[in-house]
Amino acid sequence: MVNEAVWKEITAELKEKNITLVAVSKTKPVSDIQDLYNLGQRDFGENYVQELVEKQPQLPADVQWHYIGHLQSNKVKYIAPFVHLIHAVDSFKLLLEINKQAAKNDRVIDVLLQMHVAEEETKFGLDEKELIELLEYYTAQKDQLSSIRVCGLMGMATNTEDESVVRLEYKRLHNTFNHLKDVYFINQPQFNTCSIGMSSDYKIAMEEGSTMVRIGSLLFGARQYN
Ligand SMILES: *Cc1c(COP(=O)(O)O)cnc(C)c1O
Repeated sequence: MVNEAVWKEITAELKEKNITLVAVSKTKPVSDIQDLYNLGQRDFGENYVQELVEKQPQLPADVQWHYIGHLQSNKVKYIAPFVHLIHAVDSFKLLLEINKQAAKNDRVIDVLLQMHVAEEETKFGLDEKELIELLEYYTAQKDQLSSIRVCGLMGMATNTEDESVVRLEYKRLHNTFNHLKDVYFINQPQFNTCSIGMSSDYKIAMEEGSTMVRIGSLLFGARQYN
């Protein structure tokens, strides 16, 4: 079941600030995705490769699929033919593999680097020092990496009721984004995406510089995992 009223409300709110809504449809049936598509939603996010590969052919070709989960290098090949944006790149090895698979498919794939800002160690991503290391490699080998475009950062805040913690983490991510843009992507307008904000905290993320939010349960209802 899709919450049409909430979709309309969030869409209007984001449109004012030019923020992209990625509807996170993981675990939800194809019929729910189709319902939201019929309302006008085009960007959808999934975080399991197998689930995405099963759903993609059942939906219209102009859906823009975002891969928002942790991605293993050996699975890139399955999504490379169609994926619109890969959000959570956290190693140079993965970047190389995405470049290779993109070239094989004769396309350029857009990616975001995942920054670790949360308190939980379990969350993936790179700290500022590791991001700089990765971007040094990337910059040095850019000529061979012409089948990917690095378009910004993605992050997840700590799962907490304390809004000040979430706000601080998103602020840190946005500051790092600005810094990296100045150092590595000056005059490169494609580096323009800050993918922060989920159902519980997207309003805070909007205030802290989000350009793309990833919202699931508010639109589709709570997820059930068996
Ligand atoms: C599931 C998920 C979301 C959406 O979470 P909701 O709380 O349902 O909005 C956003 N980002 C990532 C990386 C996710 O895995």
